[in-house]
Amino acid sequence: MRLAASLWIVLALAIASPATAQAPTPKWALVIHGGAGVIERANMDAGTEAAYRKAMAGALAEGQRVLEKGGSAMDAVEATIKVMEDDPLFNAGRGAVFTAEGRNELDAAFMDGATMKAGSVAGVTRTRHPISLARSVMEKSPHVMLIGHGADQFAKVAGLEQVDPAYFFTERRWQQLEKTLNEQRLPIPTRPINAPSAARSISRGPQPDDHRFGTVGVVALDQKGDIAAGTSTGGMTAKRWNRVGDAPIIGAGTYADNRSCAVSATGSGEYFIRLTVARTICALVQYKGLSLQAAADEVVRKQLPAINGDGGIIALSADGQLVWSFNTPGMYRARASSEEPAVVAIYKDEP
Ligand code: ASP
Repeated sequence: MRLAASLWIVLALAIASPATAQAPTPKWALVIHGGAGVIERANMDAGTEAAYRKAMAGALAEGQRVLEKGGSAMDAVEATIKVMEDDPLFNAGRGAVFTAEGRNELDAAFMDGATMKAGSVAGVTRTRHPISLARSVMEKSPHVMLIGHGADQFAKVAGLEQVDPAYFFTERRWQQLEKTLNEQRLPIPTRPINAPSAARSISRGPQPDDHRFGTVGVVALDQKGDIAAGTSTGGMTAKRWNRVGDAPIIGAGTYADNRSCAVSATGSGEYFIRLTVARTICALVQYKGLSLQAAADEVVRKQLPAINGDGGIIALSADGQLVWSFNTPGMYRARASSEEPAVVAIYKDEP
């Protein structure tokens, strides 16, 4: 009798508050970006656009393979970013932008949402995969952040591939540097030692586009329910004085905590540092109960423009919310999960 009464109560409650149609939590999920900025159809030729879409789809597929096999979010983040670091289209690893002195100084960060351990590097010049170095700082050192020569030396200790600095050289980025330095009336440095001579270096593939950003970032959710984030960049063209942006600053350009969200940012780093963008988004989720999209839009579309910061973020949460938000005309971005097919997008008007 008592059981029957309880059943009626359960039934009555179910009718009174029908479950809102909620998408099932995906078994795994992945969101990636390849930089945000003034990326508009009018400035993009068909070949360049196709090359970016192909590169984004290829990188996404790499991370997806890891997650589908049951690999960790951390492995997916690292594997995906390594593909993008090797691709000269992106401002990370090979294809990174140049400093005013004509060097490539690379920044990267990595964070594990399950343990909240983090690692990052800034001003690296010889390590082929700065994202792997950031992960190694997290896993194999007692520190969170290493910079410059010391970071490259630690890379050797960690057994990571070292390359001649000329490995990172691309003609396209060199031309961007010359243009920027001319605009700023600064001297053009000599080409890096071992870089191909200007005469021999024929730009292959997509030609220079003028968008300012090309940083790469990945956030992932694995089948255990853990999330992770990573970001890798060459920073800003013609940066000086060993300038460091937001990407390797934990809480600014990169953050992950299973209890709230994982974020990777791209944009004018100085503003992202001031607003601690990644951590603020996660704090709005954790302490104010905002949805991930609302939290991301609050910071990226309201707080950042209020201080003239431009750029965007990708984010996901352990309960399967996948989002992006940007205040620029475009952002190279892509997403996939066990519940939805892969989507690659560039312009603001794409879903
Ligand atoms: N956020 C990077 C930085 O300021 C640049 C970028 O996203 O392209 O170093």
